[in-house]
Amino acid sequence: MGRSSKDKRDIYYRLAKEEGWRARSAFKLLQLDQEFNLFTGVNRVVDLCAAPGSWSQVLSRKLRGQEEKGEEVKIVAVDLQAMAPLPGVTQIQGDITKVSTAEEIIRHFEGQPADLVVCDGAPDVTGLHDVDEYIQAQLLLAALNITTHVLKPGGTFVAKIFRGKDVTLLYSQLKVFFSGVTCAKPRSSRNSSIEAFVVCQNYSPPEGYIPNMSNPLLDHSYDVDFNQLEGPNRVIVPFLACGDLSAFDSDKTYPLQLEAGKEYQYTPPTQPPIRPPYQEACHLRRNNLLSREDAPSVCPKPSRDKPKT
Ligand code: SAM
Repeated sequence: MGRSSKDKRDIYYRLAKEEGWRARSAFKLLQLDQEFNLFTGVNRVVDLCAAPGSWSQVLSRKLRGQEEKGEEVKIVAVDLQAMAPLPGVTQIQGDITKVSTAEEIIRHFEGQPADLVVCDGAPDVTGLHDVDEYIQAQLLLAALNITTHVLKPGGTFVAKIFRGKDVTLLYSQLKVFFSGVTCAKPRSSRNSSIEAFVVCQNYSPPEGYIPNMSNPLLDHSYDVDFNQLEGPNRVIVPFLACGDLSAFDSDKTYPLQLEAGKEYQYTPPTQPPIRPPYQEACHLRRNNLLSREDAPSVCPKPSRDKPKT
């Protein structure tokens, strides 16, 4: 596939490069912000599962603005993968399922809680829908757990969710901690994907709740089948299609020339991955070594060292 045909296929992929975003996902956070006004009064943010960094870019540009607020704003980005540096963003290369990661975030905020936690985390999809939905749910719960350690009362949590058949159980878990839970689908998230985002507002944990990193789905104190609940006890989370309806449709194919008189120009990716897992395969293919079992391994394995921020 030529470079320009990929640009033609996905309008948000192409716009992301033209506007200098590292990934098309930037538009999802921008569209969520348009709908929910996520950034008003926000100075301390945690971006969970942040690599390659387009959400951190949005946070950095929106919150730090023209640098005058630069000092007050603290953005901490966490991912298993290393990420190229961004202005005003502190990186933690770590696992969001670990309490040590929560402690490191708190250290960066000098004991102050975060105003906003966002999580665009996704595991590597297997193609087996039930498995993918289960793993995604586990990652969301890990993000919720870490959020209970770092978010201020009244704060907001935004996270990617797969709207699979057991999604109401997740909504119920979230409603334990937030008075407002909305499931939102930004225009830039493909209709064909079960991906959506939960926007959880007004963090208000149950009285006496002590944050911990255990999995609430496996915790017997939550041993209730929420899907059995009826009447007012059943949690109904509103669903909102967000983003301007005149915005580009992420499932549609657009011509390369979008405006009459404005010729199409190819834009290279804003920030290619710094140590992609497929690096070795690319090298082998370039050197015609893919079929050779004895091909030497030339690329260093991705390091788990702490990145320099
Ligand atoms: N929001 C990012 C952006 O705008 O550039 C894209 C995030 S990408 C869809 C999902 C990320 O989740 C991957 O970079 C992956 O490494 C990360 N991830 C998955 N499981 C994780 C975990 N347990 N801890 C930290 N990061 C994780």
